[in-house]
Amino acid sequence: MSYQLSDLPYAYDALAPHIGPQTLKIHHGKHHRAYVDRLNELTEGNIDSDAKLQHLLGKADGALFDQAAQVWNHSFYWQSMSPDGGGNPDGELAKALASAFGSVERFRTEFAEAAKGTFGSGWAWLVQDRDGKLRVINTSNADTPIRHDLTPLLTIDVWEHAYYLDYQNDRGAYVETFLKHVLNWSFVASNFTTAFRDMMRRPGEIFEAPGDVLDHPALSKTQRIEVLQQWRYDAVQLQVAAQENMTGGEQGAGFIEKIDQALTQLDRN
Ligand code: MN
Repeated sequence: MSYQLSDLPYAYDALAPHIGPQTLKIHHGKHHRAYVDRLNELTEGNIDSDAKLQHLLGKADGALFDQAAQVWNHSFYWQSMSPDGGGNPDGELAKALASAFGSVERFRTEFAEAAKGTFGSGWAWLVQDRDGKLRVINTSNADTPIRHDLTPLLTIDVWEHAYYLDYQNDRGAYVETFLKHVLNWSFVASNFTTAFRDMMRRPGEIFEAPGDVLDHPALSKTQRIEVLQQWRYDAVQLQVAAQENMTGGEQGAGFIEKIDQALTQLDRN
């Protein structure tokens, strides 16, 4: 079983007039397909799932990395756009963008600058780093944030094949249109929620103690409460299990007390 080209999540003419059907037909049906075909040749069909593909991105080099990353990046790019795109983000994502960049408008400016300023072929990204901080970066050619231990939330393809038929050499017009009319904020929000939940599940790296959650700069108040409540739930489960096995659980009680203190403090602020 070899890797299958992912379907475009909308019809070829769904993003017109912003991105025309001819662009999408060639970009998805020829460029993306060619990367998939070459990946299958190079791996003799051994990559047959997204999990295996992502694993490959962490360790492959040379032509194999280039093909694998271009396969992954393009699937992510299709989802970064929507016929119902554009507008503004809301909820926790909007708050996080405002906190990281100053405002959502400022984010758009930084993202546009990264996209327009990418020399030659490449990609611009909104990513979340290991500390939960949101950042705008660009990558050259096939390079992907996954390789750099960053979680991608959004991307724009700035290879000429992504815009030449619609905008010729005017990359700026393509980037502005992407931000205004096709950017899929629901996709970004869902990646943001997943990234936040993943971060929450590795407390040892990000947070040493409940008190750290109170001061974490990348978290909103709602997220701080959510982290602490998740920890409390996990700690209670562990305590119940410990009691059932008659192995004590006294340490758990101290931890839960600290969580409750932190929650009380958040409640007062
Ligand atoms: Mn492309």
